[in-house]
Amino acid sequence: MNLAYLLLGSNMGKRLQNLNSASHLLTIKCGELVAASQVYETAAWGNTQQASFLNLAMSIYTPLSPQDLLSQLKKIERDLGRTDTTKWGPRIIDIDILLYGNNIVNMPQLTVPHPHLHERKFALLPLAEIAPDVLHPLLNQTIAQLLYQCQDAGEVTPYTCHPEQTTAKNRVPIFSYFRPAMSTENILQRVEESLDTMRPYLKDDGGNVEVVELTEDMIVKVKLIGACSTCPQSYMTMKAGIEEAVKRMVPEVKSVVAVA
Ligand code: ADP
Ligand code: MG
Repeated sequence: MNLAYLLLGSNMGKRLQNLNSASHLLTIKCGELVAASQVYETAAWGNTQQASFLNLAMSIYTPLSPQDLLSQLKKIERDLGRTDTTKWGPRIIDIDILLYGNNIVNMPQLTVPHPHLHERKFALLPLAEIAPDVLHPLLNQTIAQLLYQCQDAGEVTPYTCHPEQTTAKNRVPIFSYFRPAMSTENILQRVEESLDTMRPYLKDDGGNVEVVELTEDMIVKVKLIGACSTCPQSYMTMKAGIEEAVKRMVPEVKSVVAVA
């Protein structure tokens, strides 16, 4: 299993719906969704004569190789109605692989890390929200550092939508994985207790969170369901994200996804 970071974008048709449909298909065909940034709006890049883009970054835990992942992403793009468009032209949906673990891929049809990641604020900003400390394997700097240094002057602003637009149907479960770092005693109970303190906030917008299991290799798996924060188009309920929240509240666990 590998942790891949993706950037989704849409600037045609019902943009939020396109992002939602894509995230749904991603969880069905590519792997479990681990984290999603809020949605950002960005003026079109390269060709400024077109509608603005909505973008968000996501991480998925995937069993697919980088090449197989790309094939699935292209299939999802086609299934959502994308036809071949001009470079930087309008598109119903665009899904790019930003990072794939620490892997470096240089193939004719696939370059990872994404060759333009460090130059584009519309990719770095959402990515920094879910992966600020992750190292770019070629540039050897964290995403937060790259964002800080990025010269892209384009405006990237959080795109908020009305809560009514977030229906239960488009909520996808997010899984987080944690590895106990210090004492492993009663770790599940400790996580449970910390989740208990989070629940009232999550339930405010109809969500919940549950401990799914402690796996054989001592990894705590947590599932976040139904909260507004799991809707790609909504502003994150817990700004720091569930991983950060659990890490802060349970010092004995550290995020596996962050070190994977
Ligand atoms: P854009 O550069 O705007 O994403 P496209 O989505 O049309 O343009 O991508 C063109 C091609 O780029 C894809 O067909 C794919 O083979 C290739 N490509 C190379 N590296 C990547 C990557 N990291 N993620 C997604 N596509 C990639
Ligand atoms: Mg693309």
